[in-house]
Amino acid sequence: MEDNFLQVHSYESFGTVDGPGIRYVIFLAGCHLKCKYCQNRDTWDFRSGHSVKISELVNTILRYTSYIMPDGGVTVSGGEPLIQAYKLILLFKELKKYDIHTAIDTSRNVSNNRLYKRINRFNRSIFT
Ligand code: SF4
Repeated sequence: MEDNFLQVHSYESFGTVDGPGIRYVIFLAGCHLKCKYCQNRDTWDFRSGHSVKISELVNTILRYTSYIMPDGGVTVSGGEPLIQAYKLILLFKELKKYDIHTAIDTSRNVSNNRLYKRINRFNRSIFT
């Protein structure tokens, strides 16, 4: 796989509230909405994250499959994950090869139906 990068703020390796089953949760950096009720303010600044190779991310996630499969999966949250939508598609494409369930926790502030269609070819759930 060609090396591509996601700007990742942090991870939670045993998430139980961000989708079905036990989830590996990836919090991406960057959100321009600045909601008053936001619980993840530390993710707002894109520079709060660090650049992670998608291939490395996939390798890390594969180490957790005995926890997250078959009922859980991977949730991408933030920040606003869809700011990095085209890179996310690459991640989901890889995870689909291993039949890993994926979900996105998004504000849907990025409104682009063609983008949602492309993402949903590889992703199973969108939470808002
Ligand atoms: S969209 Fe989500 S991450 Fe962004 S400010 Fe609002 S609650 Fe926080």
